[in-house]
Amino acid sequence: MLRLFIRIWKHLFKKETYKIRKIDDLPDILDDQTIYLVEDWAISFVCPCGCREVIHLNAIESVFPRWTHTIGDSKRIDIYPSIHRTVGCKSHFWVKNGKINWCKDSPNKVMKATYYSSYK
Ligand SMILES: [Zn+2]
Repeated sequence: MLRLFIRIWKHLFKKETYKIRKIDDLPDILDDQTIYLVEDWAISFVCPCGCREVIHLNAIESVFPRWTHTIGDSKRIDIYPSIHRTVGCKSHFWVKNGKINWCKDSPNKVMKATYYSSYK
């Protein structure tokens, strides 16, 4: 029950900035506030909705769909395009300036409360 409360609190009031780690292989246990750049071929992280599923985004240029990332002067990451899970929690969000910005069509009501209005 306490974990659920903390999860809801984080979604509603805390927008934590993701750390970035460039690695060769994914660790067995992923930190839920870190985005892992696996060489030049994948972007991986724990789903921010709290479902604990690991999201792997393809970064290989010749394979579709493909996501790209940029890291700004402040060492914060942007990922393009948005991430829309088609299985499980069906979360839909952007990673912008190292933070999660929920889309309006994300199914979880907690997420909807924190969506970033400039992404529609
Ligand atoms: Zn999820």
